[in-house]
Amino acid sequence: MISGIIGQHSVWSQLQQFVSQDKVPHALLFSGEAGRGGLTIAIAYAQYLLCDQKTGDKACGQCPQCHKSMQLIHPDLHFAFPVVKGASKDRKSTFSDDFLPQWRQINLEQSYFSYFDWLNHISAAEKQGDINVTECNEISKKLSLKSYAGGKKILILWLPEFLGNNSNRLLKLIEEPPDDTHIIFVTHDENVLLKTIKSRFQIIKLPPIEIEELSKNLGSRFELDELQSRRISLLSQGNYLDAKSMISGENRDVSDLVLRWLRVCYQMKAKLLNEWIDEFGSASKEFQKQILSYALFILREFIKLSSSDEGNISLSEEEYGKLKGLTNVLSLSKAEEIADIVNDAIYAIQRNANVRIMMMADSLTIGQVLRR
Ligand SMILES: [Zn+2]
Repeated sequence: MISGIIGQHSVWSQLQQFVSQDKVPHALLFSGEAGRGGLTIAIAYAQYLLCDQKTGDKACGQCPQCHKSMQLIHPDLHFAFPVVKGASKDRKSTFSDDFLPQWRQINLEQSYFSYFDWLNHISAAEKQGDINVTECNEISKKLSLKSYAGGKKILILWLPEFLGNNSNRLLKLIEEPPDDTHIIFVTHDENVLLKTIKSRFQIIKLPPIEIEELSKNLGSRFELDELQSRRISLLSQGNYLDAKSMISGENRDVSDLVLRWLRVCYQMKAKLLNEWIDEFGSASKEFQKQILSYALFILREFIKLSSSDEGNISLSEEEYGKLKGLTNVLSLSKAEEIADIVNDAIYAIQRNANVRIMMMADSLTIGQVLRR
């Protein structure tokens, strides 16, 4: 059963306002990294729009419309998403409907998942998915039909970044959709979308999930105590998927790696720095992001420590000890400066920057800040 949105109250209340003011945009673009819940919110919103008996800010969850929406079998709720070649078809004629059973399954079972999780789920981890011309034609066809239930028709297109130039084929449809039709795009990387496409949407930016909400959710879902779940929520920066992978133990050596990095930056020895960057550069992108997220977490905790906000600290005793040991080279203002650099680096990694070059430049800057 869908719904299951974690946090994102401000987003939901904005969406609900569209309905109460009878001003639901015909084209909505949810924009935010995987793990903030874009697709889950889109599906919940579709259910809300299709529901016959909305109660306040929620779908009723009881009416026939809701039942169909929750199982992702509502005939007026259409999906499009990146796929690969279908089993007994060539790539050109394959489109999303060929993968609908798998699509329903992953959504009903996991709700939050990344593009790579999806490819894994359809046993295509080695392949590159995309949204092809056939898909665009199918979308136009589906939306031009009359709605089955006599109400709204909704299209949810997940990851328009995989449309490439095919998105031009949908321009007209997005600009002037048929009556009572809503087009919802969910992107993890708004920056790669064509301007001509983006400008036709009302964009809803998804912020990180509220730390309190994420921690509550992690606590009950993974049976963590309060300190653990708060720590991981902070570390993941409000990203459910990152939090989940941290819980599954992938961040084992992160704290040592990060403290070693700060030391190496401070020492400014080319050989040690090169070794560290080699190690970092050979890790997966996900793991690199985790390392930097941890660095950011540590720096922010240090900032709290130095601004006598000690009651609010989410460090383990061991980390606390190690951080205290940094006070001879690190100060509040230095930590703030380095946190900004790390924050930008996380952003750049998501945008596929050249990691080694970037980390070398950043490490040298951090070294200079530490030695000042
Ligand atoms: Zn309902």
